[in-house]
Amino acid sequence: MKKNKGFLVILTLVLILSCIISKPSYGAEIGKDKKTVYLTFDDGASPALTNEIIKVLEKNNIKATFFVEGNNARTNSGVIKKINESGMSIIPHIDTHEYNKIYSSANSYFDDLKNCENTILSLTGKSNSKFIRIPGGSDNTVDSPNVLAEIKSNIINSNKYYIDWTVDTQTTQTNIDFIESHIRECGGLYKVEVVLMHDLQNKVATVKSLQNTIDFYNEKGYEFKNLDNIEECEINYLKDIRVINKK
Ligand SMILES: [Zn+2]
Repeated sequence: MKKNKGFLVILTLVLILSCIISKPSYGAEIGKDKKTVYLTFDDGASPALTNEIIKVLEKNNIKATFFVEGNNARTNSGVIKKINESGMSIIPHIDTHEYNKIYSSANSYFDDLKNCENTILSLTGKSNSKFIRIPGGSDNTVDSPNVLAEIKSNIINSNKYYIDWTVDTQTTQTNIDFIESHIRECGGLYKVEVVLMHDLQNKVATVKSLQNTIDFYNEKGYEFKNLDNIEECEINYLKDIRVINKK
C-alpha cells in the first residue's frame, strides 16, 4: 500500500513536470496576448447530461464543440437539434465506438464514420466538417499501427484534419476534486488549447466540473470558440504542438 502511495506521488510529480517542460515557444503568428480555448465534448448526445452542459455553456455565453456518436445521435435526435440550434459545432465522431469493429480495417473505420456523418446530415442539414476526432485519440494503442497509419493518411489526403487535445479533463474520473486540480495543473500552458470532455450519460463529473473549467480559462484570459470558427493561424499552431495531424 505504502509502495503504491509512493509510486502515485512520483507519477503525479512526473505529470506536473511534463506539463511544465512541454510549454511551447510556437505561435509567433498569433497575437501576443491572444489566447483561445476550444471546449470539446465526445461520445454524446445523451438525454439529460448534454442538455445540462448546454445550459452551463449558455449561462456563460460560450460556444463549444460536440464530437457526436451516431448511435447516440439517433437515439437522442432532439438533443442533437438543440445543440445545433444553440450555435455549437457538431462534428461526426464515430457511429458505434466499438473498437473491435471500427479498427478491424481502415475501410471499416470509414464506413462506420460515414454512417455517423449521414445521421448528422439528416438531423442538422450539415455535413463534412473539416475535423475528425479518431476514437481513443490519434496515437491510441487499441488500433493496429498499420490500420491507424492508413486512417490518418486517408484523412490528410482528403484535406481534413484529425484533432486530439491539449488537456484531457479526465472526465472518465468520478472524483470532482481530482478533475478540478488536474485542469489547474495541466491547463493554460498553450496559446490555443483544446479541452477534452465527455457527455455520455454516466459522465456526470463533466457537468459538475464544467463551471470550474470555464472559470479557470476566464481567469487566464482565454476566449472561448467553437471549431467552426477556428482560424488558419490557430490550425497551424495546433499542428506545431502536435494536436492536429500528429504523426
Ligand atoms: Zn470517443
